[in-house]
Amino acid sequence: MSSNQYDVIIAGGGPAGTTAATLLAQYGHSVLLIERDEHPRFHIGESMLPMIEPVMDRLGIDWSQGNLRKGGAEFIDEATGRRTFFSFEGIYRTFQIERSVFDKKLFDNAIKHGVKAHQKEQVTSVQCTADEVQISTNKAQYQGRYFIDATGRNALMGKTQGSINKVNNLGKFALYKHYKLAKSPESDMVFAQGNVQVFLADIGWIWCIPLVGGRLSVGLVVQKDAPNDLKQDALFKHYINASARMKALLTGAEELSDVRVEADFSYLNKQRYGQRFACCGDAAGFLDPVFSSGFLFAVKTAELVADQLHEALLLGNEADPEIQNSGDEAYQRGFTTMYLMIERFYCTDIMQNLFFEQDRHPRIKKEIEAILAGDLWKEGNEFQKGLLAGRSRKN
Ligand SMILES: Cc1cc2nc3c(=O)[nH]c(=O)nc-3n(C[C@H](O)[C@H](O)[C@H](O)COP(=O)(O)OP(=O)(O)OC[C@H]3O[C@@H](n4cnc5c(N)ncnc54)[C@H](O)[C@@H]3O)c2cc1C
Repeated sequence: MSSNQYDVIIAGGGPAGTTAATLLAQYGHSVLLIERDEHPRFHIGESMLPMIEPVMDRLGIDWSQGNLRKGGAEFIDEATGRRTFFSFEGIYRTFQIERSVFDKKLFDNAIKHGVKAHQKEQVTSVQCTADEVQISTNKAQYQGRYFIDATGRNALMGKTQGSINKVNNLGKFALYKHYKLAKSPESDMVFAQGNVQVFLADIGWIWCIPLVGGRLSVGLVVQKDAPNDLKQDALFKHYINASARMKALLTGAEELSDVRVEADFSYLNKQRYGQRFACCGDAAGFLDPVFSSGFLFAVKTAELVADQLHEALLLGNEADPEIQNSGDEAYQRGFTTMYLMIERFYCTDIMQNLFFEQDRHPRIKKEIEAILAGDLWKEGNEFQKGLLAGRSRKN
């Protein structure tokens, strides 16, 4: 084997790429992981779901170290005073993480497992033929048996193939900023509970995610047309100040960043796999931040792709696109469930009629809790079944 030849070449060293790389290296395959930036690098996406933990266990990552324990998810409508809390304590456990630190940990862990990793190198073109894959970067050329696209919202394969389809009616854009909170009984409570809080606003919603070190991530996701007279900074300030709770919490807080923006984030890559390639994480699709599902899908799709690919590499049939069929079916079940929840969040009265409903049956609350925990692949969740059945009746 030449020094530029690998079993698997992966573009993108975020959670999806590092998960696929580590699992494949654990199976004994030679893996090259190519990352455009250099860790630690900033990334948004700090609130985690419990069902990430089984994947972290496989990677040998103890995520209880250095992260803030997340108690659950709280949804609050300040206009009506209604609120509801979905607890993750008991059956599940999860954390709020600082992505720059955690993504570096995953990257270093891949190297520890034998992955060859390059940073500050960008994959520029990919050719998948019947016999091999040829990868060009801004620095070199490589050959492999298989290519995994984990380039996040850059979606290298999807954009090259023209297979990115927008998902309509979800969040349009997000404005966010980090703070260090002043010490107060309210801020102590926020960090002790560790909950992600979602505040409904007439223009969309606000996230409030506590992090270690007394820091808070605050974001405004805008779903409706924003008033033309407000620039992004002013829009952010306006809606944060309109929330009495956020205003009180941020009194005396130190601003740690400017307002940052992410837009056009809801899409599905219609061609997620093919001859000698598969896409995972955001390169396969991304919905919306509201139920914090992005990181889970990143590591779960990477796990599905890596497990299918391992078998195929042993059998020598990795050129066959069908090797990813069953993993992709599992992905679609999870992605569609989450899509239906998010679509109802934005387009129906699910918040008022179901989430905030006092008379809601406890079984239904538990089943919603399971979905919000990312427990999307277990049998017997009647609420999930109903969602998916309604969807297939429409199709
Ligand atoms: C506003 C907003 C808020 C969010 N909040 C949450 C949240 O609270 N919880 C949650 O779970 N998710 C959240 N997400 C989603 C989450 O951030 C992503 O789903 C997750 O980071 C996807 O991981 P990934 O590995 O697929 O992609 P990324 O983490 O984006 O990693 C992709 C990597 O590929 C590299 N790369 C790109 N192109 C190339 C190339 N050509 N060659 C080599 N390397 C390349 C990039 O530098 C990057 O490091 C949020 C998303 C948005 C937009």
